[in-house]
Amino acid sequence: MGTLEHGNKCSNAQMFKCSNALMNSINLPAIEGGKPVRKDFLVFGRPMILKEEIDEVLETLRSGWWGTGPKTKFFEKEFAKYAHAKYALALSSCTAATELALDILEIGTGDEVITTPLTFVSTANVVLHRGATVKFADVDPNTWNIDPKFIGKTITKKTKAVIPVHLHGRPADMDAITKIAKDHKLYVIEDAAHAAEAWYHGKKIGSISDFTAFSFYATKNVATGEGGMLTTNNKQWFETAAIRALHGLSADAWNRYSAYGFKPYEAVYPGYKINMTDIQASLGLPQLRSIEKSSKVRTRIWQEYQKAFSKIESLIIPATDEANTVHARHLYALVLKPEMFKVDRNRFVAALQEEGIGCGVHFIPVHLHEYYRKTFGYKLGDFPESEKIGLNIFSLPIYPTMNKNDVSDVINAIQKLVDYYRK
Ligand SMILES: *Cc1c(COP(=O)(O)O)cnc(C)c1O
Repeated sequence: MGTLEHGNKCSNAQMFKCSNALMNSINLPAIEGGKPVRKDFLVFGRPMILKEEIDEVLETLRSGWWGTGPKTKFFEKEFAKYAHAKYALALSSCTAATELALDILEIGTGDEVITTPLTFVSTANVVLHRGATVKFADVDPNTWNIDPKFIGKTITKKTKAVIPVHLHGRPADMDAITKIAKDHKLYVIEDAAHAAEAWYHGKKIGSISDFTAFSFYATKNVATGEGGMLTTNNKQWFETAAIRALHGLSADAWNRYSAYGFKPYEAVYPGYKINMTDIQASLGLPQLRSIEKSSKVRTRIWQEYQKAFSKIESLIIPATDEANTVHARHLYALVLKPEMFKVDRNRFVAALQEEGIGCGVHFIPVHLHEYYRKTFGYKLGDFPESEKIGLNIFSLPIYPTMNKNDVSDVINAIQKLVDYYRK
């Protein structure tokens, strides 16, 4: 006769059965019929909307000026200051900002642009919008960012620009990238959608390259619903960008002719319609003011995750920060070592959702998306480092309104699933 901890009496054979049942009742994943770690679902991301944001938006609504106006201009000034950039242009998205940068640099048909496959599709899509060719350079297996050594191998006579992405908020190897770009006369446009708070070797992201594009999409660290920012230190590029972002209408033309009576604005270029509105800027301004405070909370959660998950042998955790850089802590991602699991990433992520933990995938490598496979003939094996990460990666909730219990629920759910699904 054996006695289980909770006092049930079982025979040896029964005891095996009982303890198995007991174990299952505690550790069976919800997706397999067990009890979830959380009753209420922990969403993957949630923008922080406080009184400041609401008041600022109401003030704008009541002012009667909703379009691109004083709030947008002020947001640009404040963001330029924050990013240590000479100029900042507020736009409708990071995607639009990146495409506009390519337009200003006159990159189009016949040109090649190099980027990482381990990014959101928009980074590559905009190159195609311009009629240019996108070339991928594989990532560093340690940092998950574009590997300068692969950039070097991808450059041809047609290469005009590189778009490094600061994946999850970790700055790419900008010293090496800047040097390669200089040596081969390439432009650099940074995709800093994840990296508003980041610093690289003592320099603020936004101040380094020809252009830097930021995102204020609803899930990003500074969120305005939809929105983006393009920074540069080049006055002429900035002025041209401002014109092209709003139909290509030139205020200069207005000034030139207005002395002779009323003349409407003239189009000096077939411009885009990708301006930011004052309503969006009203959300951005207070968020920019609280960004460093939020960043501290994100960093605390990050450290708790690192501490917990470094003990789990079957998981790859994010690399430690490089000296003299600041990680923006936008996304915290884990990578499964697939050979150590009975299930694949998609099943693992589905199971995590069933435990009540929202999660995401950042990112499926771009070359493996249907359009890229079908149009360019890309296939599994083309960029093995990106694939090893992108096919096994998933991101966990990391945002300032999470409390201690939320964080420990995430950790417990991961531990539970790892225990159950490990080979
Ligand atoms: C979100 C994101 C973008 C696109 O940002 P939008 O503002 O939605 O256009 C671009 N690149 C990366 C890496 C992103 O995560």
